Amino acid sequence: MNIEAPIDIDEAGPLARRATVGVDVGGVRVGGTAPVVVQSMTNTDTADADATVAQVAALARAGSEIVRITVDRDESAAAVPHIRDRLARLGIDVPLVGDFHYIGHKLLADHPACAEALAKYRINPGNVGFKDKKDRQFVEIIEKAIQYDKTVRIGVNWGSLDQELLTRLMDENSRLARPATARAVMREAIIRSALMSAELAEETGLARERIILSAKVSNVQDLIAVYRDLSRRTDHALHLGLTEAGMGTKGVVASSAAMGILLQEGIGDTIRVSLTPEPGGDRTREVQVAQELLQTMGFRQFVPVVAACPGCGRTTSTVFQELAETIEGDLRRNMPIWRERYPGVEALKVAVMGCIVNGPGESKHADIGISLPGTGETPAAPVFIDGKKAATLRGPRIAEDFQVMVQDYIERRFGIASAAAE
Ligand code: SF4
Repeated sequence: MNIEAPIDIDEAGPLARRATVGVDVGGVRVGGTAPVVVQSMTNTDTADADATVAQVAALARAGSEIVRITVDRDESAAAVPHIRDRLARLGIDVPLVGDFHYIGHKLLADHPACAEALAKYRINPGNVGFKDKKDRQFVEIIEKAIQYDKTVRIGVNWGSLDQELLTRLMDENSRLARPATARAVMREAIIRSALMSAELAEETGLARERIILSAKVSNVQDLIAVYRDLSRRTDHALHLGLTEAGMGTKGVVASSAAMGILLQEGIGDTIRVSLTPEPGGDRTREVQVAQELLQTMGFRQFVPVVAACPGCGRTTSTVFQELAETIEGDLRRNMPIWRERYPGVEALKVAVMGCIVNGPGESKHADIGISLPGTGETPAAPVFIDGKKAATLRGPRIAEDFQVMVQDYIERRFGIASAAAE
């Protein structure tokens, strides 16, 4: 054990972002010097314009900066321009990405209004067509992107990997003196599929500034290995995502573990957390998780942070958990309006603590914090504002009184009028 080591003078933080080519997606910058962008995908039938408009609006209001929708048949393609118009009437201009498989070339040719309304086309090179049709149909989509001046994401997915390419690499590998594992060959096939498709797109005339790559797998270690390798081999902007991450806690943990490591290494320009919602569950959860991942790691700020202790045997009531949940819910719900009304409010830090052990200390580190009384403590709750004790709340309305104090603090510190007066 080395107790008296010198203090580490290096600040903790991520490695520098890997340099990538900046891309425009309907007015949103991805890659280059832009912050990491949050995106999501609907699970409605795009032909059902009502349901799709409602879900895109919910995702955008939750903070999704780009939203992908499925375009799988004529009815879906025909609905896209109407969806775009109706969103515009709601004041929502989030860029829409069309997710095409198998017949994308045909849908884009037959539905010019759809091709125009979308900001980006997502192509999966593994199922754009088979044998001699593959490159031809891929090129037809790229030509539409050039014609309409749109961005393309070449999104390889191991579940639909180009089987001809995989077979060829497996055969080549088997002839080597020291063959690689089948898993390593599969990773190489994913990367090659992305890079070869990008090369073909550029040879067709699509600018590098119009291409984003992704290479998704569902295993955390494989995803990390694939993106590390991919980012060393190209400077195309990269979309990160763990495909089929799964439901609930498992999906959140797997996505956060994989993408957290890559983001820390400076890899990734845009992310999607592919959660499987519970039946009837809230689709916006994937946006919330993506935002919290970026915010927790210090890359971006989206909503104020609420620090709450986990509780322990020193608390016999759930008052502080309920208060923390209420405050956090209030903050998230109000953010769409507060972003305009209180510029900078996303940097706010609130603490809600359960007892005197860590309560005052943690509360002092926050902008505004409350230390609720634990078991056997005097029934009083000191409130700290900007590191100083500002009040002591008592009685049955401690939670409501603290909520009012948080609102007052936000108004005072972030209100446009107060900012103008300073
Ligand atoms: S602050 Fe108090 S109640 Fe909360 S975890 Fe620490 S000791 Fe337990």
